[in-house]
Amino acid sequence: MANQSNHQGQQPRTTSKTEQELLHELRVHQIELEMQNEELLRTRAVLETSHNRYLNLYEFAPVGYLSLNSEGTIIEINLTAAALLGEERNCLLNRHFTGLIMPEDCDRWYLLFKNVLQHEGEKKNFELMLKRGDSYFNARLDCLPIMNGAHIILLRITLTDISENKRAEQELRIAAVAFEAQEGIMITNADKTILRVNRAFTDITGYSAEELIGQTPRLFNSGRHHTAFYADMWECVNRTGSWQGEIWDRRKNGDIYPKWVTITAVKDSNGVVTHYVGLHTDISARKASEEKIKQLAYYDPLTALPNRRLLLDRLKQALATSSRNNKYGALLFIDLDNFKSLNDNLGHDMGDILLQQVAQRLIACVREGDTVSRQGGDEFVVMLEELDDHAEEAAAKAKTIGEKIITSLNQPYQLSHHQYQNTPSIGITLFINHQYSINTLLKRADIAMYGAKAAGRNTLRFFDRDMHEAVTTRAALEADLHFALAKNQFQLYFQRQARNDQTIGAEVLLRWKHPERGFIAPLEFIPLAEDIGLIIPIGQWVLENACAQLKQWQAHQQTQHLQLAVNVSARQFHQADFTEKVCAMLKKNAVKADRLKLEFTETLVFDNIAETIIKMHTLRKIGVSFSIDDFGTGYSSLIYLTQLPFDQLKIDQSFVSNIGIKHADTVIVQTIIGMANNLGMDIIAEGIETQEQRTFLELHGCHTYQGHLIGKAMPLAEFERFCDLK
Ligand code: C2E
Ligand code: MG
Ligand code: MG
Repeated sequence: MANQSNHQGQQPRTTSKTEQELLHELRVHQIELEMQNEELLRTRAVLETSHNRYLNLYEFAPVGYLSLNSEGTIIEINLTAAALLGEERNCLLNRHFTGLIMPEDCDRWYLLFKNVLQHEGEKKNFELMLKRGDSYFNARLDCLPIMNGAHIILLRITLTDISENKRAEQELRIAAVAFEAQEGIMITNADKTILRVNRAFTDITGYSAEELIGQTPRLFNSGRHHTAFYADMWECVNRTGSWQGEIWDRRKNGDIYPKWVTITAVKDSNGVVTHYVGLHTDISARKASEEKIKQLAYYDPLTALPNRRLLLDRLKQALATSSRNNKYGALLFIDLDNFKSLNDNLGHDMGDILLQQVAQRLIACVREGDTVSRQGGDEFVVMLEELDDHAEEAAAKAKTIGEKIITSLNQPYQLSHHQYQNTPSIGITLFINHQYSINTLLKRADIAMYGAKAAGRNTLRFFDRDMHEAVTTRAALEADLHFALAKNQFQLYFQRQARNDQTIGAEVLLRWKHPERGFIAPLEFIPLAEDIGLIIPIGQWVLENACAQLKQWQAHQQTQHLQLAVNVSARQFHQADFTEKVCAMLKKNAVKADRLKLEFTETLVFDNIAETIIKMHTLRKIGVSFSIDDFGTGYSSLIYLTQLPFDQLKIDQSFVSNIGIKHADTVIVQTIIGMANNLGMDIIAEGIETQEQRTFLELHGCHTYQGHLIGKAMPLAEFERFCDLK
């Protein structure tokens, strides 16, 4: 500045400059140059920084850049692009780009490249599979052609790896396809409000998506499961993250159907449930086909009856049950007589119709719990369960059903327009426990069936000949029993009952004087009479005669104190008007009610305890007394027994006969006596035969007895003589 003002303040000289002046100018020039140089350096540094920044940006950009010349050769490529292509930059430069494209995409690239070159200045993008090492990746190419005048000299490409996007896109596509799969899908929020359902779900439920969204799954509740079931289910989903099982739901049309459901809880990153996804598979068809398979495996397709396989299964179970409840069952092997000739004469179609009708008739002949099965051909096996705990009774029942079957199968059949008559032959064997194997049982029934064939067909036979005879005898007895009352074949026997040697009365015991067989003991015909209902008129007859006898005894001083004990059976006692009948009889004969004692067994009482108590009280009120017969042989609960107004306990003769022989029975006798005393009940012992038994009983406080020692059961006249009553 100083130089400048100096310079301005002096007169310009036209004369040559002084050396000093020149030196000064030089200096100024030099300074100016230095300044320019500095400026230049600074600019260069700025430029360099900017260049480096640009280079960094270019080389390490998140996308790859490369330039191709018009032949498609790589003339420039950044590091990112080289890394995407998995090679050193040097190896890529001057290489033809086509070499990096998956062969299947090369033709397309060629067309695209040509197309880009023809449309100057237009940006284009497309997707290709490019090579990276040994594999390929999805690449997106954004191409910008660079012009030089009318010529394109360069194609600048931005390269992006879009494999991830592609994968995500594919997953979405898969998810979308999966969502529309065969299985019903329902998505709810954490409050179980339905957000989305798929087609399959609407197909299964019958509701449209619009009807479902916003609802809760309670809409499908069929009422088949308790609330506890759903509570457990949701507890499991929330605890373990999922649940699966079978649920019965209701469709919109009201149908209830089974489905297999898997519920999964979807949780956020904090572990809080945000959604529930339910997969629902309608399994009604599967269940139906399972049922069909079962039907094919276990049932005969022609008659729909259980086949041999199912029969064997059920027989196995029946044997187990019979060993638990000690009741006999029976197998009835049924073979149609002359079935073959029907097939030969009328054809197999008619044979099939006959078999179907036989099946229907057999079903109608048995109880619901029994099994009617077809073994094949014209052979059927009927299995009867829980018939009775006595073999003979069971056999009689099996025989009754066998006869019912014979009668039913003897009825004419209508086979299309043919009337046809057929008969069966039946073989029967009883079973209980695991006495015989299943095969043996079937063989026995089969053998018995051949016995029936040999006996002329259209009949039944038991495997066991003794059994057959017993059953036949019983059948004959049954037939005769029907007329026994009318033919006046019954007679009353009297057996003395005494206290301290004094006759207090008698037990009335029934006898049947059979015209051919002579006297038949009550144990043989009373159970039969019970079975066929004849016990009611017979029991009535006994009571009437007992009352008539009491009336006679009442007329004489010597006998008016005598009491009669009458056995009453369960069926007789459980008649609705039993008490009325007893009252009427006492009244008709003007008999003092306290002369009549009714004996019945523990089992009778427990058939219907409430009714028994009422009836007993009614009769007791007028003076009738009660004795428990055969005490100790039933399995009665003592608690119940004490609630019943019994006057007397009758110790069963099986215990009495063991007095002094079997220690346990001796103790039982003592216990029963003690118990009766404590309950304030009278006690009587039946079946005393020896002096030793009597002494023992008296010693322990039982002073009333009945038995051969003091008198057998005998007809009235004999009894009166025997007791010195006349
Ligand atoms: P119950 O009522 O226990 O009768 C006692 C049975 O033992 C009688 O057999 C009697 O003759 C027999 N008995 C009595 N003392 C002795 C003895 O010292 N030794 C032996 N070995 N036996 C003796 P019974 O007359 O054959 O009667 C059998 C069963 O038949 C009776 O058992 C009773 O349950 C039933 N019963 C008899 N008569 C009738 C009746 O009129 N109606 C009903 N419902 N059942 C009757
Ligand atoms: Mg008795
Ligand atoms: Mg008895």
